[in-house]
Amino acid sequence: MSSLPEHPHPTAKIGKAELLAALQNFLPADAILHSAEQLRPYECDGLSAYRQVPMLVVLPSNVEQVQQVLRLCYDNNVPVVARGAGTSLSGGALPLSDGVLLSLAKFNQILDIDTFNRTARVQPGVRNLAISEAAKPHGRNRSLPPQQNKHQLGHLLPTRSTC
Ligand SMILES: Cc1cc2nc3c(=O)[nH]c(=O)nc-3n(C[C@H](O)[C@H](O)[C@H](O)COP(=O)(O)OP(=O)(O)OC[C@H]3O[C@@H](n4cnc5c(N)ncnc54)[C@H](O)[C@@H]3O)c2cc1C
Repeated sequence: MSSLPEHPHPTAKIGKAELLAALQNFLPADAILHSAEQLRPYECDGLSAYRQVPMLVVLPSNVEQVQQVLRLCYDNNVPVVARGAGTSLSGGALPLSDGVLLSLAKFNQILDIDTFNRTARVQPGVRNLAISEAAKPHGRNRSLPPQQNKHQLGHLLPTRSTC
């Protein structure tokens, strides 16, 4: 296992206990992971040579909650890393030890499919397989290699991925 390079960022203004209490004001209990055994599965993405347990993991289920998490973290200099399915082979979803890992897994709705314009409006946590299956009845084939079916579509913009 390799050691991690430092990511310089301003020192956080609050610690874990204070941040947890603040998050509990607007997130349900099951949307915050904070014990060692809850956090361990998030210590790496597909690049498992690098591992770092995050300070906290949050799993919001609506836009307002995401906004509140980001506002709270921004105001207190707490770094945030977004996580899709965690399949990246480049360590992009690797958390920071003093940061929050923001899982978009609950944003898994396909909002609409426009077959005429060949577009779809989806939430970021929709997986490749789900959009492929939803497009099929409309005669659209978006087949990908099976190992890419797990990717969530929210990763497309930050990674400039083609799939
Ligand atoms: C087997 C395999 C084959 C691949 N083949 C290709 C290929 O042919 N072409 C190609 O271009 N790519 C390819 N990739 C790369 C793939 O597209 C990326 O790994 C992609 O990021 C995986 O999606 P994910 O949901 O697992 O993202 P994650 O691994 O969870 O995240 C990847 C990055 O995106 C950020 N992120 C994720 N979701 C969001 C969000 N909602 N908002 C903001 N940031 C977010 C994360 O912080 C992280 O930096 C391949 C990957 C694998 C594992």
